[in-house]
Amino acid sequence: MVAVIGGGIVGSLIAREINKYVEDVYLFEAKNGIGTGVTKANSGILHGGYDDPPGSLRAQLCYKGNRLYDEISRELSIEVKRIGSHVVALDESELAVIDELEEKATRNNVKEYRILNRDELFEMEPNLSENALSSFYCPIAGITEPWEVAIQAARSIELNGGRVFKGKRLVEVAKKDGKFELSFEDGSTYTADLVINAAGLYADEVAKLFGDDVPKIFPIKGEYFLLGKDVRYVNSVIFPMPSELTKGCLVIPTVDGGFLAGPTAHGVQSKQDFSTTRDGLAEVKEKTLKLIPSLDFSRNVVKTFAGLRPESGGKDFYIDVGTDNVIHVSGIRSPGLTAAPAIAKYVTEYLIEEKLHINLEKRQNYIEHVEKVSHFVETDFDYWSKAIEEDPEAGQIICFCNKVTKQEIKEAIRNGARTIDEVKFATRASFGECQGSSCTSKILKIICDETGLRPQDVLLNEKGSWIIDSEVRSI
Ligand SMILES: Cc1cc2nc3c(=O)[nH]c(=O)nc-3n(C[C@H](O)[C@H](O)[C@H](O)COP(=O)(O)OP(=O)(O)OC[C@H]3O[C@@H](n4cnc5c(N)ncnc54)[C@H](O)[C@@H]3O)c2cc1C
Repeated sequence: MVAVIGGGIVGSLIAREINKYVEDVYLFEAKNGIGTGVTKANSGILHGGYDDPPGSLRAQLCYKGNRLYDEISRELSIEVKRIGSHVVALDESELAVIDELEEKATRNNVKEYRILNRDELFEMEPNLSENALSSFYCPIAGITEPWEVAIQAARSIELNGGRVFKGKRLVEVAKKDGKFELSFEDGSTYTADLVINAAGLYADEVAKLFGDDVPKIFPIKGEYFLLGKDVRYVNSVIFPMPSELTKGCLVIPTVDGGFLAGPTAHGVQSKQDFSTTRDGLAEVKEKTLKLIPSLDFSRNVVKTFAGLRPESGGKDFYIDVGTDNVIHVSGIRSPGLTAAPAIAKYVTEYLIEEKLHINLEKRQNYIEHVEKVSHFVETDFDYWSKAIEEDPEAGQIICFCNKVTKQEIKEAIRNGARTIDEVKFATRASFGECQGSSCTSKILKIICDETGLRPQDVLLNEKGSWIIDSEVRSI
């Protein structure tokens, strides 16, 4: 059996890639949802791969990953919008940085870019600051919903004979007869021949369970505003000039029509510090208003949130074989979600096949395509009308902000969602302006009706996060 520890975008895609060769693949995720670690709170950008340090593993895997997303999007039925990105020069001194980006792109073998003059730039992005002079434009950059990639990859594993476990935190590892005995917090144990450690922020700690040392992970917090869909601020991803540490505070369209402003980049002590701060949010406002002065932070804010980058000292991915048959996939900071499909191939085709000399043969019965119920709000009138004729629940709106129907929610539950957040990430219900004020209780009831769970047993996400803490007469 091959065990993958960590059901983020990286672990899920690695498990899916190995599952193309080996049926017995088990994906173990500590949390109660797939894609709910670093994968759920980031910018969601498929970077163009032009600006990673030439020669780094990041540079090697980012562009390749970007290119693999067309295939991933077809096979896993996930949305990828190649809306392009601009790195914008706001004064003469920044024009030199555009030249540096061009040089880096050449060294990274990325050809899909153009340097735009002011007129070309404003034709594409009329709301930019009047100071904008030029941009480094990358048409292959895009956006996606990273948690959806992880969820669909996990579904693909189950469809192909593998197994996906949620709420299973690896706490101990023993070696017996050349195999790993993996013990989990809930008391269960499994025996694995090969293990992939893709535990995100905790990959350094999981490596220690195997007796291995990988570069220590330092959490770097990024704070964001999510802005609503009323105003179309930008059409593509807008970057300021990058620094050594970060690509800066950006303005990013989201797949479902909103906008993100952020992120900051400040080191924090705790891997669980997801707080937003007055200073961090003020920094986001100040920096993004320089790019897009019309951003409305007084009336258009849906929510604020923070994510943590798993940064390691070397500022590069650390992906290598550890002691015996374990592979550590650590330090997967940005552009980890872009690179994830290429990381999956690197682990499978290079580390497993070439470095560990494990012979892999493609399975004949492997099913590549995984269906997903459409977000009806994005389909045309005739399609949605026909769906309602076939099943009236396709016309019963549960989340009014994002127009998510009962049929979509029931489908997510049939696919394994048991918490409110799992339904949210699978369907976008409660992701909108009211942040679940209107639909949480309705989703709770649908989960109870579909699964037989009692209302007081349904969680928002992790242990202890009940919506209702005792018996109720009715919901
Ligand atoms: C602010 C910010 C902005 C970013 N923007 C971008 C961007 O625009 N584009 C881009 O390409 N990248 C971006 N990134 C980077 C990207 O989000 C990450 O590289 C990627 O999500 C990492 O995925 P992962 O699967 O490695 O980690 P995770 O999603 O954290 O998955 C690891 C999983 O392992 C589980 N786990 C941990 N310990 C155990 C254990 N003991 N047992 C079992 N399971 C365990 C965790 O619960 C977690 O779910 C950004 C990151 C941040 C924080």
